[in-house]
Amino acid sequence: MKGIGRVIAVDGPAGSGKSTVAQLLSRKLGYTYIDTGAMYRALTLLAMREGIGMDDEAALASLARRMVIEFVLDESKEPPHRLLINGEDLTREVRGREVTARVSQVSAHPAVRREMVRKQRELAEGGDVVMEGRDIGTAVFPSAYAKYFITASVEARARRRRDDLLREGYSVSEESVERELIKRDIRDASRKTSPLMRASDAVAIDTTAMGVEEVVEMIMKDLMSRSGLDDLSAG
Ligand code: C5P
Repeated sequence: MKGIGRVIAVDGPAGSGKSTVAQLLSRKLGYTYIDTGAMYRALTLLAMREGIGMDDEAALASLARRMVIEFVLDESKEPPHRLLINGEDLTREVRGREVTARVSQVSAHPAVRREMVRKQRELAEGGDVVMEGRDIGTAVFPSAYAKYFITASVEARARRRRDDLLREGYSVSEESVERELIKRDIRDASRKTSPLMRASDAVAIDTTAMGVEEVVEMIMKDLMSRSGLDDLSAG
């Protein structure tokens, strides 16, 4: 088995822009993009399909253990970063509102997190990755090569999340999105097992007044100041 490659951890709250940033960064570096939020979302979706209760920790952990997760890049699709669960493309489905409303309850169970963290570490075997989530720099890869903690004001995050939903064909008010977002933040930041938190050695970036390109450029500069671009090329 190959060892763990270079890990770039991108953490932050919902709607901070970390997904867009992490995807772009992964393309620039030629690294594999791993969206750990999508993993918790997929588990929530499968549990809903199978009629498993969101409070049934043992059944959820067992489902997580059996789940086969793949992240693939398919340029013919939009978005090109696809999530396959047991071979089924669930990229779009996991972003639905019902899943969003339940996912932080599922992700708070310690047994579920143990399974997911094991899978996340496996996914980083044998290649360089940009991994985004809530606890990558603190719990999944505490010794990641570089860590970034992306934030933005709650208003900016709600606006971005609402724009995403509108693009996907859902009509929602900014107020209701903001309420949901705050509720999820509180749950994610107050759970006992690896809560949403900035790692002490993570670079904090407030994206409230920044464009995606600007954030990625800032990260690329920081990475280059650590090692030089040649050293960063995917191995
Ligand atoms: O990033 P995204 O908003 O898709 O994440 C969905 C949910 O998954 C979060 O609200 C959180 O409850 C959970 N999550 C987590 N740990 C991670 C990534 C996501 O608990 N590393």
